[in-house]
Amino acid sequence: MVLHPTSTSDLEAAFSSDAAQQGGVIARGLGRSYGDPAQVSGGLVLVNDAFNECSAIHPETGEVTVGSGVSIDTLLATSIPQGFFVPVTPGTRQVTIGGAIAADIHGKNHHVDGSFMAHVTSMDLMTPSGLKHVTPTNDPELFWATAGGMGLTGVILRATLTMLKIPSAYVAVDTTRHRNLDEVMNEMVTGDDRYRYSVAWVDCMTSGDRMGRAVLTRGDHAAADLVEGRPGPEKAIPTAPRLGVPFEAPSGLLNRLSITAFNEAWFRAAPKNKIGGIESISTFFHPLDGVSNWNRLYGSRGFVQYQFAVPDTAGETVRIAIERLSASKVPSFLAVLKRFGAGTPGPISFPTPGWTLALDLPIGPPALPKVLNELDDLVAEAGGRIYLAKDARLNPVHIETMYPRIGEFRAVLDRVDPNGLMTSDLAHRLNLRGKN
Ligand SMILES: Cc1cc2nc3c(=O)[nH]c(=O)nc-3n(C[C@H](O)[C@H](O)[C@H](O)COP(=O)(O)OP(=O)(O)OC[C@H]3O[C@@H](n4cnc5c(N)ncnc54)[C@H](O)[C@@H]3O)c2cc1C
Repeated sequence: MVLHPTSTSDLEAAFSSDAAQQGGVIARGLGRSYGDPAQVSGGLVLVNDAFNECSAIHPETGEVTVGSGVSIDTLLATSIPQGFFVPVTPGTRQVTIGGAIAADIHGKNHHVDGSFMAHVTSMDLMTPSGLKHVTPTNDPELFWATAGGMGLTGVILRATLTMLKIPSAYVAVDTTRHRNLDEVMNEMVTGDDRYRYSVAWVDCMTSGDRMGRAVLTRGDHAAADLVEGRPGPEKAIPTAPRLGVPFEAPSGLLNRLSITAFNEAWFRAAPKNKIGGIESISTFFHPLDGVSNWNRLYGSRGFVQYQFAVPDTAGETVRIAIERLSASKVPSFLAVLKRFGAGTPGPISFPTPGWTLALDLPIGPPALPKVLNELDDLVAEAGGRIYLAKDARLNPVHIETMYPRIGEFRAVLDRVDPNGLMTSDLAHRLNLRGKN
C-alpha cells in the first residue's frame, strides 16, 4: 500500500495503521535507488512528495531548510540563480533530500567535501517512538544512524544543510586520457587533491597493457571571469532532457560486441589532454539526466549496478575486479572510479576512505551471477563493502563483515523502534535489523 502523508498526524496515523503494523513501513523518495530499499512487500510505503517546502537560502552562510520530498533538481533550480550549489550531488538530480540522507550519497568531490551528511546540521525525523529534532550533538547516535541508514530510523520530514557558494554556473574541467588502470590510479592518488571534483570513466572491456584504460575528468566551479559573455547563474538552471528512449530496446542489444564498440568510440572521442574546458553544471554532473528513460536501452531484462568501496591499501582489488570481468566475458559499460576521503561517523554509511568503483552490467550473460558473487568475496576479504543504495542481490552472509559497525546501528533501531516497524525489502533480504 502506498500513501502520501502531508503532516505529522498523517505519519502517526500511518504508523498505527493495520498495513504498517502487519507488514512494516518505509519511506520512499523518487525511487532512484537501484534495488529494493524504498519498498516493502505487504507493508506501507510513504512517499514524501508533500514535504516540499524550501526556506530562503541564507546569503552569507548558505544555510537552507528543505522538505525531505524536494528533489536536488528543484533545489538547484532555485539555488543556482542565487549563486549556490548543493554541497554533494549524485550522478542524477532526480533524488530527494530524504533519499540523499538515507543513502548518505557521495559525489565526485568526496575526497574534498565528504558525503551529503557532512553538510547537514539538523533533521526532523518521525520515528515510531515520536517526532525528534535531531542534530549531531543532541543525539549523535540517531543522527549518524540516519546517515546511510536506508530509511530504517524513521521518516525524515525536513533537513537543514549548508549549500556551497559558487562563482558561476559552469565548471572548469581538465580531461586526460590514460592508457591503463595503473596510470589513471596513480594520477588520481598524486593529483586529485588539486581538484574539488574528480571522476575516471574506465573501460572494463580491455585487457593486457590497455586493461582499464580511462578518461579522467577533474574540475571545479569556474571563476566568473572565465565565463564572461555566457549566460549568468540566473539563466543557467539545469534543463529538462533533450533526448529520450521512447521504447524498450530488445534485450541483448547491449552485448559484448556492441559495448566493446561503444567503449572504443568513446575512448577515441575523448581529448588526450584538454585543460580548462568549460562545461555546464548539467553536462558535468548529470549527463544521464539529458536522456529520459535511458534505462530502456538495457531492454526488459535490465541491468545490475554494482558499486563497491575498498580501502587505499586494497587498491589492487579494483584491478582484480576489472580483470575478472574482462576475463569472464561479462560485458560492462564504462565503469566509474572515484576516490573517497574521510567518511562520516555513520555506522552503516557507505563511503570509507579509499577507492570506489561502480559498474553497469546488462543482465543476461550466464556467468554474471557467479562473477558478482566472486567480486563480493573479493571486496569483503579486502575490508570493503557494497553500496546498499545500489544493491539488489548481495548474499546476506557478507553484511557484518562489510559493515562491521552494524551492531551500533541496530542498537539505535532497538531504541527508537523497539517493535521493528520500520523495514523494507532490502532490510529483510540482507537482515539489516539482525532479527531474521
Ligand atoms: C543515474 C543515477 C546515478 C546515481 N549516482 C549516484 C552517485 O553518484 N552517488 C550516490 O551516492 N548515489 C547515486 N545514485 C543513487 C541515489 O543517489 C540514491 O539511491 C538515492 O537514495 C536515491 O534517492 P531517492 O529520492 O530516489 O530515494 P529512494 O530510492 O526512493 O529511496 C532510497 C532510500 O532512501 C529512503 N528515504 C527516501 N526518502 C526518505 C525520507 N523522507 N525519510 C527517510 N528515508 C527516506 C528510502 O527508504 C530508501 O531506503 C544514483 C542513482 C541513479 C539512478
